[in-house]
Amino acid sequence: MHAASLSQVVFDAGLIARYEGSGPRYTSYPTADRFAEGSVAEQYDQALRLRQEASPDAPLSLYVHIPFCDTVCYYCACNKIATKDRLRADQYLDYLQKEINLIRGRFARAPSVSQLHLGGGTPTFLTNLQLDRLLQMLHASFTLLPQAECSIEIDPRRLNAGTLALLFKHGFNRMSLGVQDLDPAVQKAVNRVQPAALTETVIDEARLLGFRSINIDLIYGLPLQSTDTMRATLETVLQWRPDRIALYSYAHLPERFMPQRRIETADLPSGATKLAMLKQAVETLLAAGYVYIGMDHFALPEDELAQALARGTLQRNFQGYATQADCDLIALGVSAISRIGKTYAQNHRVLQDYYEALERSELPLSKGLTMTNDDEIRRAAIHDLLCQSEIDIPAFEKSWDIEFAQYFDKEVAQLQSLAIDGLVSLNESEITITPRGRFLARIIAMPFDRYLREAKTHARYSKVI
Ligand code: SF4
Repeated sequence: MHAASLSQVVFDAGLIARYEGSGPRYTSYPTADRFAEGSVAEQYDQALRLRQEASPDAPLSLYVHIPFCDTVCYYCACNKIATKDRLRADQYLDYLQKEINLIRGRFARAPSVSQLHLGGGTPTFLTNLQLDRLLQMLHASFTLLPQAECSIEIDPRRLNAGTLALLFKHGFNRMSLGVQDLDPAVQKAVNRVQPAALTETVIDEARLLGFRSINIDLIYGLPLQSTDTMRATLETVLQWRPDRIALYSYAHLPERFMPQRRIETADLPSGATKLAMLKQAVETLLAAGYVYIGMDHFALPEDELAQALARGTLQRNFQGYATQADCDLIALGVSAISRIGKTYAQNHRVLQDYYEALERSELPLSKGLTMTNDDEIRRAAIHDLLCQSEIDIPAFEKSWDIEFAQYFDKEVAQLQSLAIDGLVSLNESEITITPRGRFLARIIAMPFDRYLREAKTHARYSKVI
């Protein structure tokens, strides 16, 4: 598909309402809920050994999870630890050091890193001293390449004086700011009071320092939101002209996520209002010159994500859409998920379990999965649909040595009904998501998910819209 068609998107509210349902976000395939307990440590070690033999100098992606938050946003569905005690982060860093030592010991020399991301929780829960210590720890065991993309999730409410300068000194050049909504009543209803002026100050400081990409996270579907509040939020956000905007749908699942029980169900917008907010937001962002990247993401045309989309080199990983070639990922910290070659490995989700494994000098792994050949083929198909909006069938057959129509006979049959609705077009040489289908790319990718087909339930996933 050429660049012009990739950037085209049509918001068809009727179609979107019809296909509204839940589905995986495919930041990985197989999705993390398919990981199993068992011999994950051996599988991970084996994957690291294979990597050492095959491509010891290939750059890595590195992720560090900081799980602490000092207040809880009521919409939160993340694995975080609520505490105001900054000393808990000192202890956490002690254990992170143990984990880094265990990983470093598995490499002959300091592995090179082309991407570093600090996420949470709230990475800026750390004091400047703690943050400096963490970054020194990483620099001591990994070689950060000069062109490395270093990014961090910033909570403007928890940013100490001097933190941005410290990050910039350590090579950070991108940030993602949690905003969600700027309306004071909405902010109060979700326990995240964050005045617009505060966010603006952070953006101004980051730009002055030289951060080259700023993302803003927004959510639609929160309590007390309406098309009016959404319009006002977008007006202000667009004045800041962030390089990227992520617009997530709020999924209200109070039975699964405790903090959401604090949200008054009666305050939630109806499905129709939610759809109207999404429509308005999409139209506003496109009119303001943003490019629709896919799923929940928009970027300015000059941003690297939009450029990667146009070049057909867009990637998808645990952080969402990305620009760099698919590289192995080492993820450190409680609940973090690594991928080396064909193997996914997830750390313990409970802090005490994570600490205890490290006390025993064991990698703190709890679950994982080594992809079969079929997993890899399906992963590639889902990737092509979500990142390129098409599957080039002859090229796919050549890469994976399969006869596409035969291998995916059930999937192609399922896609035919989506084709009748105009979401996708199919012929012998390609499957192409139409501009009308781009908002529903997850729906088009789902037939390729063997686990979903076998489980016959999508109930645990977030809403597509
Ligand atoms: S949404 Fe982010 S900042 Fe808020 S409680 Fe969850 S992890 Fe913490």
